[in-house]
Amino acid sequence: MARSSDPILISGGGIGGLITAYCLADKGFPVRLFEQSPEFREVGAGIQLGPNIFRMLEKVGLKDAVLADAHRPPAQEMRDALTGKLITRIPLGDDFAAHFGQPYGVTHRADIHGAFLKACEDSDLVTLETSRRVDDFTDHGDHVTIKLNNGETARGRALIACDGMWSMIRERLVGDGKPRVSGHIAYRAVLKREDVPEDLWRPDVILWAGPRTHFVHYPLRRGELYNLVAVFHSDHYEEGWNAEGAKDVMWQHFKMQVPQVTRMLERIETWRMWVLCDREPIKDWTKGNVTLLGDAAHPMLQYLAQGACMATEDAVILADKVAASPDDLNAAFKAYQQERYLRTGRTQIMARVYGEFYHARGVAAELREMALSGRSPQQSYEGIEWLYGGP
Ligand SMILES: Cc1cc2nc3c(=O)[nH]c(=O)nc-3n(C[C@H](O)[C@H](O)[C@H](O)COP(=O)(O)OP(=O)(O)OC[C@H]3O[C@@H](n4cnc5c(N)ncnc54)[C@H](O)[C@@H]3O)c2cc1C
Repeated sequence: MARSSDPILISGGGIGGLITAYCLADKGFPVRLFEQSPEFREVGAGIQLGPNIFRMLEKVGLKDAVLADAHRPPAQEMRDALTGKLITRIPLGDDFAAHFGQPYGVTHRADIHGAFLKACEDSDLVTLETSRRVDDFTDHGDHVTIKLNNGETARGRALIACDGMWSMIRERLVGDGKPRVSGHIAYRAVLKREDVPEDLWRPDVILWAGPRTHFVHYPLRRGELYNLVAVFHSDHYEEGWNAEGAKDVMWQHFKMQVPQVTRMLERIETWRMWVLCDREPIKDWTKGNVTLLGDAAHPMLQYLAQGACMATEDAVILADKVAASPDDLNAAFKAYQQERYLRTGRTQIMARVYGEFYHARGVAAELREMALSGRSPQQSYEGIEWLYGGP
Protein backbone atom coordinates (compact mmCIF):
# COMPACT_ATOMS: atom_id res chain seq x y z
CA MET A 1 0.00 0.00 0.00
CA ALA A 2 1.22 3.52 -0.77
CA ARG A 3 1.80 5.60 2.33
CA SER A 4 1.33 9.32 1.94
CA SER A 5 4.34 9.82 4.25
CA ASP A 6 6.56 7.88 1.79
CA PRO A 7 9.07 10.16 0.07
CA ILE A 8 9.36 10.78 -3.64
CA LEU A 9 12.67 9.25 -4.79
CA ILE A 10 15.11 11.06 -7.07
CA SER A 11 18.04 9.45 -8.86
CA GLY A 12 20.88 11.92 -9.58
CA GLY A 13 22.05 15.07 -7.81
CA GLY A 14 23.11 17.29 -10.72
CA ILE A 15 21.43 20.61 -11.42
CA GLY A 16 18.19 18.86 -12.46
CA GLY A 17 17.98 16.52 -9.46
CA LEU A 18 18.68 19.17 -6.85
CA ILE A 19 16.22 21.74 -8.19
CA THR A 20 13.56 19.04 -8.48
CA ALA A 21 14.12 17.98 -4.87
CA TYR A 22 13.89 21.58 -3.72
CA CYS A 23 10.73 22.38 -5.73
CA LEU A 24 8.90 19.27 -4.47
CA ALA A 25 9.89 19.98 -0.86
CA ASP A 26 8.79 23.57 -1.32
CA LYS A 27 5.31 22.19 -2.11
CA GLY A 28 5.38 20.06 1.04
CA PHE A 29 6.47 16.68 -0.36
CA PRO A 30 9.23 14.68 1.38
CA VAL A 31 12.03 13.71 -1.00
CA ARG A 32 15.00 11.29 -0.88
CA LEU A 33 17.72 12.02 -3.43
CA PHE A 34 20.48 9.55 -4.32
CA GLU A 35 23.71 10.65 -5.99
CA GLN A 36 26.26 8.09 -7.14
CA SER A 37 29.32 10.33 -6.57
CA PRO A 38 30.91 10.57 -3.12
CA GLU A 39 30.06 14.28 -2.98
CA PHE A 40 27.76 16.78 -4.68
CA ARG A 41 29.93 18.48 -7.26
CA GLU A 42 29.75 20.15 -10.68
CA VAL A 43 32.56 20.30 -13.21
CA GLY A 44 34.56 23.54 -13.39
CA ALA A 45 33.02 25.43 -16.27
CA GLY A 46 30.64 28.24 -17.04
CA ILE A 47 26.99 28.13 -17.91
CA GLN A 48 24.76 30.73 -19.55
CA LEU A 49 21.37 31.44 -18.05
CA GLY A 50 18.62 32.86 -20.21
CA PRO A 51 15.70 34.89 -18.83
CA ASN A 52 13.49 31.79 -18.92
CA ILE A 53 15.42 30.19 -16.04
CA PHE A 54 15.21 33.38 -13.96
CA ARG A 55 11.42 33.44 -14.46
CA MET A 56 11.32 29.95 -12.90
CA LEU A 57 13.80 30.76 -10.14
CA GLU A 58 11.84 33.86 -9.15
CA LYS A 59 8.74 31.69 -8.79
CA VAL A 60 10.47 29.37 -6.32
CA GLY A 61 12.46 32.05 -4.48
CA LEU A 62 15.97 31.18 -5.72
CA LYS A 63 16.59 33.97 -8.24
CA ASP A 64 18.65 36.15 -5.88
CA ALA A 65 20.72 33.19 -4.68
CA VAL A 66 21.71 32.37 -8.27
CA LEU A 67 22.26 35.98 -9.31
CA ALA A 68 24.49 36.63 -6.27
CA ASP A 69 27.51 34.93 -7.87
CA ALA A 70 26.58 35.45 -11.52
CA HIS A 71 28.04 37.94 -13.97
CA ARG A 72 25.62 40.09 -16.00
CA PRO A 73 27.15 40.51 -19.48
CA PRO A 74 26.24 43.80 -21.22
CA ALA A 75 25.98 42.10 -24.62
CA GLN A 76 26.51 39.00 -26.71
CA GLU A 77 28.63 39.34 -29.82
CA MET A 78 29.21 37.02 -32.75
CA ARG A 79 32.43 37.65 -34.67
CA ASP A 80 34.01 36.02 -37.70
CA ALA A 81 36.97 33.95 -36.45
CA LEU A 82 38.87 34.32 -39.75
CA THR A 83 38.54 38.10 -40.18
CA GLY A 84 37.63 39.38 -36.72
CA LYS A 85 34.65 41.22 -38.19
CA LEU A 86 31.62 41.83 -35.96
CA ILE A 87 28.62 39.86 -37.31
CA THR A 88 26.05 40.86 -34.71
CA ARG A 89 25.84 42.40 -31.24
CA ILE A 90 22.80 41.75 -29.04
CA PRO A 91 22.50 44.02 -25.97
CA LEU A 92 21.74 42.02 -22.80
CA GLY A 93 21.39 44.94 -20.39
CA ASP A 94 18.38 46.98 -19.33
CA ASP A 95 16.55 46.87 -22.70
CA PHE A 96 16.86 43.09 -22.76
CA ALA A 97 15.62 42.77 -19.17
CA ALA A 98 12.74 45.14 -19.89
CA HIS A 99 11.75 43.14 -22.98
CA PHE A 100 11.81 39.70 -21.32
CA GLY A 101 11.03 40.78 -17.77
CA GLN A 102 14.15 38.92 -16.57
CA PRO A 103 17.93 39.33 -16.90
CA TYR A 104 20.61 37.34 -18.73
CA GLY A 105 23.39 35.87 -16.61
CA VAL A 106 26.50 33.72 -16.83
CA THR A 107 27.73 31.73 -13.85
CA HIS A 108 30.05 28.97 -12.73
CA ARG A 109 28.27 25.61 -12.81
CA ALA A 110 29.46 24.99 -9.25
CA ASP A 111 27.80 28.25 -8.13
CA ILE A 112 24.30 27.48 -9.41
CA HIS A 113 24.65 23.84 -8.32
CA GLY A 114 25.83 25.10 -4.90
CA ALA A 115 22.82 27.44 -4.60
CA PHE A 116 20.45 24.53 -5.35
CA LEU A 117 22.34 22.25 -2.92
CA LYS A 118 22.09 24.82 -0.13
CA ALA A 119 18.35 25.25 -0.75
CA CYS A 120 17.95 21.46 -0.38
CA GLU A 121 20.13 21.31 2.74
CA ASP A 122 18.03 24.07 4.32
CA SER A 123 14.83 22.09 3.79
CA ASP A 124 13.61 19.65 6.43
CA LEU A 125 11.86 17.64 3.74
CA VAL A 126 14.90 16.78 1.57
CA THR A 127 17.21 13.87 2.45
CA LEU A 128 20.43 13.86 0.40
CA GLU A 129 22.50 10.68 0.08
CA THR A 130 25.87 10.44 -1.68
CA SER A 131 27.81 7.34 -2.85
CA ARG A 132 24.44 5.81 -3.62
CA ARG A 133 23.96 4.62 -7.16
CA VAL A 134 20.46 3.59 -8.20
CA ASP A 135 21.00 0.23 -9.90
CA ASP A 136 17.45 -0.98 -10.38
CA PHE A 137 13.83 -0.11 -9.71
CA THR A 138 10.46 -1.83 -9.50
CA ASP A 139 7.13 -0.09 -9.88
CA HIS A 140 4.61 -1.92 -7.70
CA GLY A 141 1.66 0.10 -8.96
CA ASP A 142 1.03 1.97 -5.73
CA HIS A 143 4.68 2.49 -4.74
CA VAL A 144 8.20 2.13 -6.12
CA THR A 145 11.26 0.38 -4.72
CA ILE A 146 14.83 0.99 -5.84
CA LYS A 147 17.96 -1.10 -5.40
CA LEU A 148 21.17 0.73 -4.48
CA ASN A 149 24.81 -0.17 -5.13
CA ASN A 150 25.42 -0.90 -1.41
CA GLY A 151 22.78 -3.63 -1.47
CA GLU A 152 20.11 -1.57 0.32
CA THR A 153 16.66 -0.93 -1.04
CA ALA A 154 14.56 2.20 -0.65
CA ARG A 155 10.85 2.69 -0.99
CA GLY A 156 8.94 5.71 -2.20
CA ARG A 157 5.71 6.89 -3.78
CA ALA A 158 7.39 7.48 -7.11
CA LEU A 159 10.78 7.79 -8.83
CA ILE A 160 12.06 10.77 -10.81
CA ALA A 161 15.15 9.99 -12.88
CA CYS A 162 17.50 12.97 -13.07
CA ASP A 163 20.44 10.74 -13.94
CA GLY A 164 21.58 12.62 -17.01
CA MET A 165 22.54 11.88 -20.61
CA TRP A 166 23.44 8.20 -19.99
CA SER A 167 20.39 7.52 -17.78
CA MET A 168 19.98 3.89 -16.78
CA ILE A 169 16.33 4.52 -15.97
CA ARG A 170 15.66 5.97 -19.44
CA GLU A 171 17.07 2.79 -20.95
CA ARG A 172 14.49 0.80 -18.97
CA LEU A 173 11.60 3.20 -19.67
CA VAL A 174 12.26 4.22 -23.27
CA GLY A 175 14.97 1.81 -24.47
CA ASP A 176 16.39 4.01 -27.21
CA GLY A 177 20.01 2.97 -26.67
CA LYS A 178 23.02 5.23 -26.42
CA PRO A 179 22.86 8.98 -27.11
CA ARG A 180 23.57 10.28 -30.64
CA VAL A 181 27.18 11.37 -31.03
CA SER A 182 27.06 14.75 -32.75
CA GLY A 183 30.61 14.72 -34.13
CA HIS A 184 31.37 17.90 -32.20
CA ILE A 185 33.74 18.17 -29.25
CA ALA A 186 33.92 20.95 -26.65
CA TYR A 187 37.18 21.80 -24.88
CA ARG A 188 36.74 23.97 -21.83
CA ALA A 189 38.91 25.79 -19.33
CA VAL A 190 38.53 28.48 -16.67
CA LEU A 191 41.16 31.19 -16.11
CA LYS A 192 41.59 33.62 -13.25
CA ARG A 193 40.87 37.15 -14.37
CA GLU A 194 44.51 38.19 -13.82
CA ASP A 195 45.64 35.45 -16.24
CA VAL A 196 43.61 36.92 -19.11
CA PRO A 197 45.62 39.49 -21.11
CA GLU A 198 44.13 42.90 -20.35
CA ASP A 199 43.47 43.74 -24.02
CA LEU A 200 41.54 40.46 -24.50
CA TRP A 201 39.32 40.61 -21.41
CA ARG A 202 35.75 41.54 -22.32
CA PRO A 203 32.66 41.78 -20.09
CA ASP A 204 30.47 40.39 -22.91
CA VAL A 205 29.72 36.87 -24.11
CA ILE A 206 31.86 36.66 -27.27
CA LEU A 207 31.36 33.90 -29.84
CA TRP A 208 34.01 33.52 -32.57
CA ALA A 209 32.33 31.66 -35.42
CA GLY A 210 34.78 29.77 -37.66
CA PRO A 211 34.56 27.06 -40.30
CA ARG A 212 33.49 23.93 -38.38
CA THR A 213 34.54 25.59 -35.11
CA HIS A 214 33.42 28.14 -32.63
CA PHE A 215 35.04 29.62 -29.55
CA VAL A 216 33.12 31.30 -26.72
CA HIS A 217 34.42 33.27 -23.76
CA TYR A 218 32.87 35.26 -20.94
CA PRO A 219 33.55 36.24 -17.29
CA LEU A 220 32.26 34.18 -14.36
CA ARG A 221 31.78 34.57 -10.61
CA ARG A 222 31.21 38.32 -10.39
CA GLY A 223 34.01 38.78 -12.95
CA GLU A 224 36.73 36.98 -10.94
CA LEU A 225 37.07 34.10 -13.43
CA TYR A 226 37.02 33.75 -17.21
CA ASN A 227 35.34 30.86 -19.03
CA LEU A 228 36.63 29.51 -22.35
CA VAL A 229 34.93 26.90 -24.56
CA ALA A 230 36.37 25.82 -27.91
CA VAL A 231 34.19 23.56 -30.08
CA PHE A 232 35.28 21.69 -33.23
CA HIS A 233 34.26 18.76 -35.39
CA SER A 234 35.74 15.36 -34.49
CA ASP A 235 34.73 11.69 -34.49
CA HIS A 236 36.22 11.08 -31.05
CA TYR A 237 33.81 9.45 -28.57
CA GLU A 238 34.25 9.13 -24.84
CA GLU A 239 31.47 8.98 -22.24
CA GLY A 240 31.44 11.49 -19.42
CA TRP A 241 32.24 15.14 -19.06
CA ASN A 242 35.69 15.44 -17.64
CA ALA A 243 38.37 13.72 -19.75
CA GLU A 244 41.54 15.66 -20.58
CA GLY A 245 41.64 16.98 -24.16
CA ALA A 246 44.80 16.82 -26.32
CA LYS A 247 45.96 20.39 -27.01
CA ASP A 248 47.53 19.69 -30.42
CA VAL A 249 44.30 18.14 -31.75
CA MET A 250 42.38 21.29 -30.89
CA TRP A 251 45.11 23.56 -32.22
CA GLN A 252 44.83 22.09 -35.75
CA HIS A 253 41.30 23.49 -35.93
CA PHE A 254 42.03 27.00 -34.64
CA LYS A 255 45.60 27.90 -35.63
CA MET A 256 44.53 29.89 -38.72
CA GLN A 257 42.10 32.10 -36.77
CA VAL A 258 42.57 35.72 -35.68
CA PRO A 259 45.11 36.50 -32.89
CA GLN A 260 42.31 37.34 -30.42
CA VAL A 261 41.38 33.65 -30.65
CA THR A 262 44.83 32.04 -30.86
CA ARG A 263 46.36 34.19 -28.12
CA MET A 264 43.56 33.26 -25.75
CA LEU A 265 43.78 29.54 -26.60
CA GLU A 266 47.54 29.61 -26.01
CA ARG A 267 46.94 30.65 -22.38
CA ILE A 268 45.48 27.25 -21.50
CA GLU A 269 47.70 24.39 -20.33
CA THR A 270 45.05 21.80 -19.56
CA TRP A 271 41.74 21.45 -21.36
CA ARG A 272 38.82 19.34 -20.22
CA MET A 273 36.79 17.69 -22.93
CA TRP A 274 33.11 17.02 -23.56
CA VAL A 275 32.09 14.79 -26.48
CA LEU A 276 28.81 16.43 -27.43
CA CYS A 277 25.78 14.16 -27.69
CA ASP A 278 22.01 14.49 -27.80
CA ARG A 279 18.97 12.38 -28.59
CA GLU A 280 15.93 12.54 -30.82
CA PRO A 281 13.02 14.25 -29.04
CA ILE A 282 10.37 11.90 -27.63
CA LYS A 283 6.89 12.63 -26.26
CA ASP A 284 6.49 9.83 -23.73
CA TRP A 285 9.03 9.53 -20.93
CA THR A 286 6.67 8.47 -18.11
CA LYS A 287 5.60 4.97 -17.14
CA GLY A 288 3.43 4.42 -14.06
CA ASN A 289 5.09 6.08 -11.10
CA VAL A 290 8.42 6.72 -12.85
CA THR A 291 9.37 9.71 -14.98
CA LEU A 292 12.45 11.40 -16.44
CA LEU A 293 13.68 14.97 -16.07
CA GLY A 294 16.45 17.18 -17.51
CA ASP A 295 19.11 15.50 -19.67
CA ALA A 296 17.63 12.08 -18.92
CA ALA A 297 14.41 13.17 -20.69
CA HIS A 298 15.63 15.51 -23.44
CA PRO A 299 19.42 15.80 -23.76
CA MET A 300 20.37 18.58 -26.16
CA LEU A 301 23.45 20.08 -27.73
CA GLN A 302 24.66 23.18 -25.89
CA TYR A 303 24.32 25.62 -28.80
CA LEU A 304 21.30 27.39 -27.30
CA ALA A 305 22.81 27.20 -23.80
CA GLN A 306 19.60 25.70 -22.44
CA GLY A 307 20.09 22.19 -20.94
CA ALA A 308 20.22 23.37 -17.34
CA CYS A 309 17.56 26.02 -18.00
CA MET A 310 15.22 23.34 -19.37
CA ALA A 311 15.92 21.03 -16.40
CA THR A 312 14.95 23.89 -14.08
CA GLU A 313 11.77 24.62 -16.03
CA ASP A 314 10.96 20.88 -15.84
CA ALA A 315 11.41 20.88 -12.06
CA VAL A 316 9.15 23.86 -11.40
CA ILE A 317 6.40 22.57 -13.68
CA LEU A 318 6.65 19.00 -12.38
CA ALA A 319 6.27 20.23 -8.79
CA ASP A 320 3.21 22.29 -9.82
CA LYS A 321 1.62 19.21 -11.40
CA VAL A 322 2.39 17.02 -8.36
CA ALA A 323 0.84 19.64 -6.09
CA ALA A 324 -2.24 19.77 -8.32
CA SER A 325 -2.65 15.98 -8.28
CA PRO A 326 -1.01 14.78 -5.04
CA ASP A 327 -2.93 11.50 -4.87
CA ASP A 328 -2.27 10.42 -8.44
CA LEU A 329 1.39 10.87 -9.32
CA ASN A 330 1.07 9.05 -12.62
CA ALA A 331 -1.50 11.66 -13.69
CA ALA A 332 0.81 14.42 -12.43
CA PHE A 333 3.79 13.00 -14.36
CA LYS A 334 1.70 12.66 -17.52
CA ALA A 335 0.50 16.27 -17.21
CA TYR A 336 4.11 17.44 -16.70
CA GLN A 337 5.32 15.54 -19.75
CA GLN A 338 2.42 16.83 -21.84
CA GLU A 339 3.32 20.41 -20.98
CA ARG A 340 7.04 19.91 -21.61
CA TYR A 341 7.65 17.70 -24.63
CA LEU A 342 7.04 20.20 -27.44
CA ARG A 343 9.05 22.98 -25.83
CA THR A 344 11.98 20.72 -24.95
CA GLY A 345 11.78 18.95 -28.34
CA ARG A 346 11.87 22.28 -30.14
CA THR A 347 14.92 23.31 -28.11
CA GLN A 348 16.68 20.00 -28.91
CA ILE A 349 16.05 20.50 -32.63
CA MET A 350 16.87 24.20 -32.73
CA ALA A 351 20.12 23.60 -30.81
CA ARG A 352 21.29 21.44 -33.73
CA VAL A 353 20.33 24.18 -36.20
CA TYR A 354 22.26 26.79 -34.22
CA GLY A 355 25.30 24.48 -34.21
CA GLU A 356 25.23 24.34 -38.03
CA PHE A 357 24.87 28.10 -38.11
CA TYR A 358 27.83 28.75 -35.80
CA HIS A 359 30.08 26.39 -37.79
CA ALA A 360 29.07 27.55 -41.28
CA ARG A 361 31.69 27.73 -44.05
CA GLY A 362 31.89 29.50 -47.41
CA VAL A 363 28.56 30.64 -48.85
CA ALA A 364 26.69 29.54 -45.74
CA ALA A 365 28.95 31.77 -43.61
CA GLU A 366 28.32 34.71 -45.97
CA LEU A 367 24.58 34.11 -45.73
CA ARG A 368 24.85 34.05 -41.95
CA GLU A 369 26.51 37.44 -42.00
CA MET A 370 23.93 38.82 -44.41
CA ALA A 371 21.06 37.54 -42.26
CA LEU A 372 22.41 38.77 -38.93
CA SER A 373 24.43 41.90 -39.52
CA GLY A 374 21.54 44.24 -40.25
CA ARG A 375 19.30 43.09 -37.42
CA SER A 376 18.20 45.54 -34.74
CA PRO A 377 18.27 44.45 -31.07
CA GLN A 378 14.47 44.38 -31.19
CA GLN A 379 14.54 41.95 -34.13
CA SER A 380 17.05 39.75 -32.28
CA TYR A 381 14.80 39.69 -29.21
CA GLU A 382 11.77 38.77 -31.32
CA GLY A 383 13.73 35.96 -33.00
CA ILE A 384 14.35 34.25 -29.65
CA GLU A 385 11.00 35.13 -28.05
CA TRP A 386 9.75 31.52 -28.34
CA LEU A 387 12.56 30.43 -26.00
CA TYR A 388 13.28 33.33 -23.67
CA GLY A 389 9.62 34.37 -23.41
CA GLY A 390 8.57 30.99 -21.98
CA PRO A 391 7.58 28.76 -20.48
C1 LIG B 1 29.80 22.11 -23.22
C2 LIG B 1 28.45 22.29 -22.57
C3 LIG B 1 28.00 23.56 -22.30
C4 LIG B 1 26.74 23.76 -21.74
N1 LIG B 1 26.31 25.03 -21.53
C5 LIG B 1 25.08 25.22 -21.01
C6 LIG B 1 24.61 26.56 -20.82
O1 LIG B 1 25.31 27.53 -21.12
N2 LIG B 1 23.35 26.73 -20.28
C7 LIG B 1 22.56 25.64 -19.93
O2 LIG B 1 21.44 25.87 -19.45
N3 LIG B 1 22.98 24.39 -20.14
C8 LIG B 1 24.22 24.14 -20.65
N4 LIG B 1 24.66 22.87 -20.83
C9 LIG B 1 23.76 21.74 -20.51
C10 LIG B 1 23.72 21.40 -19.02
O3 LIG B 1 25.02 21.29 -18.52
C11 LIG B 1 22.98 20.11 -18.81
O4 LIG B 1 21.80 20.09 -19.57
C12 LIG B 1 22.60 19.96 -17.34
O5 LIG B 1 23.74 19.98 -16.53
C13 LIG B 1 21.85 18.65 -17.14
O6 LIG B 1 21.60 18.47 -15.79
P1 LIG B 1 21.00 17.08 -15.27
O7 LIG B 1 20.89 17.24 -13.80
O8 LIG B 1 19.81 16.72 -16.07
O9 LIG B 1 22.11 15.99 -15.63
P2 LIG B 1 23.60 15.84 -15.10
O10 LIG B 1 24.23 17.14 -14.84
O11 LIG B 1 24.28 14.89 -16.03
O12 LIG B 1 23.44 15.13 -13.68
C14 LIG B 1 23.16 13.77 -13.56
C15 LIG B 1 23.59 13.33 -12.15
O13 LIG B 1 23.11 12.02 -11.92
C16 LIG B 1 24.13 11.23 -11.34
N5 LIG B 1 23.83 9.83 -11.70
C17 LIG B 1 23.89 9.25 -12.92
N6 LIG B 1 23.48 7.99 -12.86
C18 LIG B 1 23.12 7.75 -11.55
C19 LIG B 1 22.59 6.62 -10.86
N7 LIG B 1 22.33 5.46 -11.51
N8 LIG B 1 22.34 6.73 -9.53
C20 LIG B 1 22.59 7.91 -8.88
N9 LIG B 1 23.11 9.01 -9.48
C21 LIG B 1 23.35 8.93 -10.81
C22 LIG B 1 25.40 11.79 -11.94
O14 LIG B 1 26.54 11.49 -11.16
C23 LIG B 1 25.09 13.30 -11.97
O15 LIG B 1 25.42 13.93 -10.76
C24 LIG B 1 25.92 22.63 -21.40
C25 LIG B 1 26.39 21.35 -21.65
C26 LIG B 1 27.63 21.17 -22.22
C27 LIG B 1 28.09 19.76 -22.49
